[in-house]
Amino acid sequence: MTLFAEVIVDVPTMQTDQPFTYIVPEELSDVIEVGMRVEVPFGEGNRHIQGFVTVLKQTSTYPEKLKPIIRMLDLSPVLNQELLALADYMKETTYAFKITCLQTMLPSVMKAEYEKKIVLKDPSHPIKQQYFSQSDEIDWQEAEKLGILKQLKKLRQENIVELRYVVKKKNKVKKIRYVNSRLTQNNGADIDQQINQRALRQKQLVELLKVNAHQPAAFYTKQGITSTVLKQGEKKGWLSFEEVEAYRDPYQGRTFKKTAALALNQEQQQAVTAVLAAEEKANDDVFLLEGITGSGKTEVYLQTISTVLDKGKTAIMLVPEIALTPQMVERFKSRLGEAVAVLHSGLSQGERYDEWRKIERGEAQVVVGARSAIFAPLENIGVIIVDEEHESSYKQDEAPRYHARDLAIWRGNYHHCPVVLGSATPSLESRARAQKNVYQLLLLRKRADPAANLPSIEVVDLKEEYERKNTSNFSQDLQNKIADRLEKKEQSVLMLNRRGYSSFVMCRDCGYVLPCPNCDISLTLHMDTKTMRCHYCGHEERIPQHCPECGSNKIRYYGTGTQKVQEELQELFPTARILRMDVDTTRRKGAHEQILQKFGAQEADILLGTQMIAKGLDYPNITLVGVLNADTALNLPDFRASEHTFQLLTQVAGRAGRAKKAGEVLIQTFNPEHHAIVLAQKQDYETFYEQEMFLRHQSSYSPYYFTVKITCSHQEEQVAAKKMFQIGQVVKTGLSPESILLGPTPASIARVKNRYQYQMVIKYKKEPALSQMLKQILNESQKDQRKGLYVAIDNEPVNFI
Ligand code: ADP
Ligand code: ZN
Ligand code: ZN
Repeated sequence: MTLFAEVIVDVPTMQTDQPFTYIVPEELSDVIEVGMRVEVPFGEGNRHIQGFVTVLKQTSTYPEKLKPIIRMLDLSPVLNQELLALADYMKETTYAFKITCLQTMLPSVMKAEYEKKIVLKDPSHPIKQQYFSQSDEIDWQEAEKLGILKQLKKLRQENIVELRYVVKKKNKVKKIRYVNSRLTQNNGADIDQQINQRALRQKQLVELLKVNAHQPAAFYTKQGITSTVLKQGEKKGWLSFEEVEAYRDPYQGRTFKKTAALALNQEQQQAVTAVLAAEEKANDDVFLLEGITGSGKTEVYLQTISTVLDKGKTAIMLVPEIALTPQMVERFKSRLGEAVAVLHSGLSQGERYDEWRKIERGEAQVVVGARSAIFAPLENIGVIIVDEEHESSYKQDEAPRYHARDLAIWRGNYHHCPVVLGSATPSLESRARAQKNVYQLLLLRKRADPAANLPSIEVVDLKEEYERKNTSNFSQDLQNKIADRLEKKEQSVLMLNRRGYSSFVMCRDCGYVLPCPNCDISLTLHMDTKTMRCHYCGHEERIPQHCPECGSNKIRYYGTGTQKVQEELQELFPTARILRMDVDTTRRKGAHEQILQKFGAQEADILLGTQMIAKGLDYPNITLVGVLNADTALNLPDFRASEHTFQLLTQVAGRAGRAKKAGEVLIQTFNPEHHAIVLAQKQDYETFYEQEMFLRHQSSYSPYYFTVKITCSHQEEQVAAKKMFQIGQVVKTGLSPESILLGPTPASIARVKNRYQYQMVIKYKKEPALSQMLKQILNESQKDQRKGLYVAIDNEPVNFI
């Protein structure tokens, strides 16, 4: 009986966003499985492209019209039933193409790449001598190099050769050469007689082969036996070579000292017990673990995972990319050992692929990784943990625009296992769900190390500093404190907040920032048009010359670079050893880790950096944290600006005083009365939550409203704008009067890569028909793609700028 396969092909367009049916050739029908990648002919000219088998079936409507699958690209499925179902969910909630969802779940080396080949159709054709003497096909690039492309094109018109696209497999497995010995103590004795006594290396080789049955070739070369000598040995029949599959292990050669579980305090114990009880009952409960910085959340994760592993289950631990420091990896590897696989962007493509294979083969049971680790192909998951759940980097800002937290909850549901969302400063959305008992709230209220205390936090008003004519980046207070630490040989961490850095205009005398008259956000500076603009409602005005509040003319564009700050710091403290950590100093692979290691080894007195330094640092000798500019993020045109500021300040403050030595934090700001700053100073998340919820309610934002952002982009501004307004009309008539529409307006970065962007935000409470309407809009926008006009939908955007 003929077998048919439904295949999702690697052509990300609306028309092809559906399964296509192929015939499974006889010889594959026993081995093909759902979830495998295959090579199939597609479209005009039957290009060879990659696809994923999603269904196998016995019947098809038009079998005579179907083409056969060319070959399988995998020997076993790369996506299991669960992940295929997850892709469907992702497609539904992010409006992305199915193929994009499928590909996102796999290591990037498994994404298809194509080779263009020119193939001689009839190998007996006389032309073979001329261009195809070696083989019946020639690589396009090769032909280009040889300068015969023109001739070959002509042959194509004559239908003698054809163009073929073939899928290039990039997921190469690393192989290591081993030497298998054929000698033993016994049979080796005869050989001793045969060797010329002066062939010292051969003698040495024989001696080694007698006692080493199976060793990597490197074992021999290290002892001075060259590969030539080894090859001679092979010829003589003393040994054979074997290529053995190997993993590229980024942590190879590192040993992790085994650590024992700490005795939990009462709150920690309660948290572990609650999560494990849910696991035991196969409940897919979601827990919100709200614990102040240093309260021992990581210890809770480690012990929960450890128990789950003992039961023969697996676990996923998500960490924001930037927090996945060597220290963090160390904590997991040293406690859980070989069971841990680590996935993050610092790994090479090959290393990532190898970690993925370890997981897929069941050789690793715990996956610690950044956002995309949520796709780890684990079976039998017992717990999923999302640390720092409030981090916006869990949302992917390109298609598919998924949020790892949502997918974690989906997988928890699938595996009937609990999900733990952990944070010192939960997102308002999660905290509100805990309030309504959708999530279960677990609290850790004090620092876990009995010797540690929360640091004391002081706020310096930069306006007063300016009045005293100190225009440096360092207030007198901060300078005194840094000097004090240098004296005591303690370490300081200084943060220059670059979020929203150069985008707003502020009065240096009174801290006034230009607001939008219609919305509760600040206006953004557009240097290209020399205007101030609101990104929500489109309001536009001129850049002011004087401060509307105090009349000062010191109203200006705000911003300075870390490098300049470092120079200033070095001038103030000529003998201080300063490390700088920002995008410039961390571009090289491993640079980030190196800086942290140096700082951890006390090779520097001050670590100066951007918000990169706010997370994951756990060093006992840090006793001072200084925030040079707390405000910048506050002025972003984003309703989450206060939330992000509060979170960042709490996080960075948490770096100080994590052990015996008391910590101090100093926050410099132009807005000492702002609730995000006042409450960060008090380290009072709960009050912040209440006040911010009140503001969100008043301005109809999340978590009271859902949001969807629609963006149109085109090379010509008018075209993008016109389309956005058309869509706006459609949306307006289709929505209930309770929903709120913002825009259309130009996006804050109005032009990206020479494309103008217009956007619109829909805020709604209940719109059962919205999803269908958005799909319709996407469908109809399909025909515009040829004109270079694109429509994108971002469900629950975290990025408004
Ligand atoms: P968090 O993840 O909440 O910021 P950590 O897990 O990093 O906190 O813990 C902070 C410090 O407290 C770490 O040095 C950790 O080893 C220590 N710690 C955690 N739990 C305990 C405990 N039960 N007893 C003693 N020290 C603890
Ligand atoms: Zn002013
Ligand atoms: Zn506005």
